[in-house]
Amino acid sequence: MGLDLPTPAVALAIGAHPDDVEFQAGGTLAKWSSQGCVVHHLILTDGSKGTWDIDEDISALVETRQVEQRSAAKALGAAGEVVMLGEVDGTLESNAAIRELVAYWIRKLQPNVVLGHDPWRRYRLHPDHRHAGWLTVDGLVAARDPFFFPDQGVPHHRPDALLLFEADEPDHVEDVTGFEAMKIAALLEHRSQYVTTMYISDDDAGEQLQAFRDRIFDRMRRRGDVEGVAFGEAYKLLTDV
Ligand SMILES: [Zn+2]
Repeated sequence: MGLDLPTPAVALAIGAHPDDVEFQAGGTLAKWSSQGCVVHHLILTDGSKGTWDIDEDISALVETRQVEQRSAAKALGAAGEVVMLGEVDGTLESNAAIRELVAYWIRKLQPNVVLGHDPWRRYRLHPDHRHAGWLTVDGLVAARDPFFFPDQGVPHHRPDALLLFEADEPDHVEDVTGFEAMKIAALLEHRSQYVTTMYISDDDAGEQLQAFRDRIFDRMRRRGDVEGVAFGEAYKLLTDV
């Protein structure tokens, strides 16, 4: 297990849904932002399946989730762009058209480190997370080589490292001690997801919120334990990209 990359100048986190990046890498991105890294978000879907309410106004939900994602990025201290591709939640596909868009944003934003879902994670059910993983890996390969999508008008770009979250075989921990509260604050900006994802009901203020905090803290503690730090986030690190 490795501990802590040098703080990159620019990082790009690619998530399937609004809130995935905060769940998986919020502490890391808050830490890097505080150290001067420009952190960008690229969110692939519109989050339109993120409700259990059959009477929900879906176009309003999509707008809400955009606002929430921008607020969450701010809560992390992220100074970069929040790009939302707006693919329909639940139907994301790893195809050439979306791969081209991912490659475009990697080329345009020029991250030193890209973060994204691990496409090799076994037994994962959610299709968007699988496809988001492939789009991240395949988009990076396309971004780095000049003859993929040569008419994009942006120079090809090779990041130094790829950090895969939800990793099947994690081999790297980022120490996020001191940034665990910022991760929670960013997650709590995704207010539309309180009921479905965080199990915080609308009429509950205290106990369920505390239980959610405890769950997230607990996970960071377990990840940190492996490397002897108080709070951690775990990844598969690929440097030969
Ligand atoms: Zn997700």
